[in-house]
Amino acid sequence: MNEFTLTYEGFDPAEEGLREALTSTGNGYLCARGAAEWEDADDVDYPGTYMHGVYNRETTILSGRPVLNEDLVNLPNWLVLKLRIDGDEALGLAEVELLDYRHELDIRHALMVRELRFRDRSQRETTLRSRRFVSMADPHYAGIEWTLTPLNWSGRVEVVAAIDGRVTNGGVARYRHLEGRHLSPVSSRTFGPNVIALKVETRQSNLYISEAVRTLVVDAPTDVAVEQRAHQMADYIQHVLSFDVRQGRPVRLEKMAAFSTSRDPATSDTLVRAGTMAQRVPDFAKALARHSSSWDELWRLCDVRLSGDERAQLLLRLHIGHILQVCSEHTADLDAGAPARGLNGEAYRGHVFWDELFVLPFLNFRMSKVSRGLLMYRYRRLDEARAAAREAGFGGAMYPWQSGSEGTEETQHIHLNPLSGRWEPDLSSNQRHINAAIFYNIWQYFEVTEDVEFLGDCGAEMMLEIARFWAAITHFNPERERFEIHGVMGPDEFHEKYAGETEAGLRNNAYTNVMVAWLCTVAGNLLELLPPNRADALRERIDLADDELRLWEDMSRRMFVPFHGDGVISQFEGYDALLELNWDAYRAKYGNIQRLDRILRAEGDDPNRYKIAKQADTVMLFLLFSGDELRAIFERLGYTYDSGTAGKNIAYYDRRTSHGSTLSFISHAGVLAAIDRESSWQRFLAALESDVGDLQGGTTKEGIHLGAMAGTIDIVQRGYAGMRVHAGVLHFDPRLPERVGDLSFSMRFRGAVISVTLADGQLAIAVDQEAMSRPIRIGVDGEVRELCPGDRTTFDLAARSAPTGHV
Ligand code: BGC
Repeated sequence: MNEFTLTYEGFDPAEEGLREALTSTGNGYLCARGAAEWEDADDVDYPGTYMHGVYNRETTILSGRPVLNEDLVNLPNWLVLKLRIDGDEALGLAEVELLDYRHELDIRHALMVRELRFRDRSQRETTLRSRRFVSMADPHYAGIEWTLTPLNWSGRVEVVAAIDGRVTNGGVARYRHLEGRHLSPVSSRTFGPNVIALKVETRQSNLYISEAVRTLVVDAPTDVAVEQRAHQMADYIQHVLSFDVRQGRPVRLEKMAAFSTSRDPATSDTLVRAGTMAQRVPDFAKALARHSSSWDELWRLCDVRLSGDERAQLLLRLHIGHILQVCSEHTADLDAGAPARGLNGEAYRGHVFWDELFVLPFLNFRMSKVSRGLLMYRYRRLDEARAAAREAGFGGAMYPWQSGSEGTEETQHIHLNPLSGRWEPDLSSNQRHINAAIFYNIWQYFEVTEDVEFLGDCGAEMMLEIARFWAAITHFNPERERFEIHGVMGPDEFHEKYAGETEAGLRNNAYTNVMVAWLCTVAGNLLELLPPNRADALRERIDLADDELRLWEDMSRRMFVPFHGDGVISQFEGYDALLELNWDAYRAKYGNIQRLDRILRAEGDDPNRYKIAKQADTVMLFLLFSGDELRAIFERLGYTYDSGTAGKNIAYYDRRTSHGSTLSFISHAGVLAAIDRESSWQRFLAALESDVGDLQGGTTKEGIHLGAMAGTIDIVQRGYAGMRVHAGVLHFDPRLPERVGDLSFSMRFRGAVISVTLADGQLAIAVDQEAMSRPIRIGVDGEVRELCPGDRTTFDLAARSAPTGHV
């Protein structure tokens, strides 16, 4: 097995959408699905191209009610290349007999390849090889190359190279009742003889997007004369290249593309910009070489190598490749968040959820500039979060559950249950825990990078405003003498409210309350981490009073956490009184029951009645904190936390979780790493397969699950290498699953580049001889060693005391 290539042999229309999503090519600025160049959007093919931040809002009238949605916009289709032989109809797979077909993603260089051999109705046999990349070296460039070989014929061909602006957002069947038109045509034009260009504008957000392509026949036999004709409309432009081909002689054709939007810096008219860039773009081979060396450089830092399971290795790399396609150094300055479904499809409309909690651990340790960019996306929307808190009657900042262009709440109020065909209320925006996730993300970023400047300029302000919001939504219950939070949901979306009650949300979601207790401690000590003048200025700017700090301190000691009575933390107050579900009966009846919510609702039942969970909720705590950290949080709260707490709780919820979110396998694999390595490994494999195997039955074609992909790397580093940063020390507590032989990866920590190798019962850490990096501290089993640039050290794992068993 080639551990850097995703290969599909044979064409399968039912799988094409999935393959398109997984063979997308992108560079952190834009991403294009791996759709065939010759196909328009239909039930099989969906050529989508997306860019960070290009959102547009539209209203749909549904049964007389206006429904407003903001979508990440599908951009004009720049892929279009159609082949006509001797004046026949353009090539389509339905019209030819496919003799060979291979579709590949070269993960190492994010290069998509399709190779076809086909026989047409006139018995002509032809091979076509298509290669495509979106440049990691020059983020505004992309290229397609066709190599065409007539096997048993000679004749005249026409290739239509177009940019098609007549596209809509139509990639998700469930959304097709909703307005999908987001683009208005502006103009099209040519730039010299070889470049065509098209400019469109988003209908409501008034962003300009221009694309330009230069199509040339290259490496043709010298006597091949190429005729070229252009046709243009406001929303479509094409070049038709006609030329003779000879039996057995390959002809190469290149379509080089350039992209410009009004969101780009150093831009006046995007059309002129794109056209000029397309005139300047190097040829395919040169551009590809530059692109490939950028990827080689990325892999030097980002690869994660494990021996013992080739498939796991391949899928880990597929995931790393896709994360980098969506979040690369080119993303850092784009004012971009991490869209839950990447830039690979239209599910969740390109919205940004809490999933960055699963993405940042990968980025923090490799490309912290990108993490910082994603956090800046939140900072620029802090005022909107303040306004949302104010409007809801709270202080501080309340970030939305789903965020898009402006940071307003983009969660729909109703959603379509595909099982029942009914529109059902959607209460999921009560997931205020997004505010704990953002706080946690900033803190983790700081722990890894020690970026005091960011903390002082932006991070601390967000954290303090978030702490304020929690203090405002919390109330004190004098009977319990504890602080409580009502009316919110935890990560488990099966429970939105108490069955039969009208009020949305639940009382005292344990995950939320524990996160709040933790963040109140951190928030209380935050100002001490800043230079005194920065701390004073910030306090003054946000008008932070001493009694607020005292309240946070009190909350950190007296948040209420519900328990069942046997040491099991109740997911929320009242969870233990819910009904047990007959899991076997539902499995027998429906097979896949990951989306029990849809099943139960379609049956006229209510998931709120049952002890079930869509995904890790309480269990998240054991992922996000080490055993020592959790013990400290619980003890500070005056609750018991012993060595059995993690195991007992994980086992309890594991039995009751349907893993209806791909994030759930991640969390469970991560927490089981220290408790039951084999179960952990099985969950890890499920998480690795979830997109490639489309385990959720049809969701991946609507976009990859970025959080789940990144989460698999987090399982390796946080779960299997047991890596955590605490008080400036990078700790390892390795517990490799039996199937894994060796594990090695590189990473950055506090400015140093280090390589980590786990092999033969030893952990070896080597610090690159990089200028400017300061000594770092590495801890294993209580022993902390200081390493300087160029140092290498080895910890003997066999000699250490048994793994802590802590998660
Ligand atoms: C999950 C959320 C997640 C969202 C976007 C939902 O299905 O329940 O936790 O944030 O998908 O990935």
